[in-house]
Amino acid sequence: MDKKPVRLIGIIQCDFAKERCSGFGCVNSFTNRIDGFTAYEGDAGVMAVPFNCGGCPGRRIARTAAHLIKRAKKKADIEKDEIVIHLSSCMVTDNGHYPPCPHLDYIEKILKRKGLKVRKGSYKSKTAQKRRDEGLYDSLNRDCD
Ligand code: SF4
Repeated sequence: MDKKPVRLIGIIQCDFAKERCSGFGCVNSFTNRIDGFTAYEGDAGVMAVPFNCGGCPGRRIARTAAHLIKRAKKKADIEKDEIVIHLSSCMVTDNGHYPPCPHLDYIEKILKRKGLKVRKGSYKSKTAQKRRDEGLYDSLNRDCD
């Protein structure tokens, strides 16, 4: 059976990181299909919807994800199995904002219960990578794009 194409990417970003971050890096990486988004190269019609986690411990994601699923279906006829959620690099890596989110497992569980596919990673900061190489930040998780 054919695998359904991805039609919508949700990019969840850390509320604390977003106090100073515009989110440009994640959307730029998605638009150019680089960093955590290389898997979507050639999929010109894929839409990106960035949103915040809503603050610790990420419980608001249940409501935001439900809203996303409903609106995607109603406004663009996108089914939830055509949606992939990326947990942004500010959540899943040790980086210039903070160490990784301590609630990742909880957030991932919420999203999976909603029937959404989850991937880790978005924008890859060269500065953060340099600091990882220098041993100042922890290395990337193996499952992180
Ligand atoms: S739940 Fe995680 S991603 Fe959200 S504000 Fe807290 S630390 Fe940031």
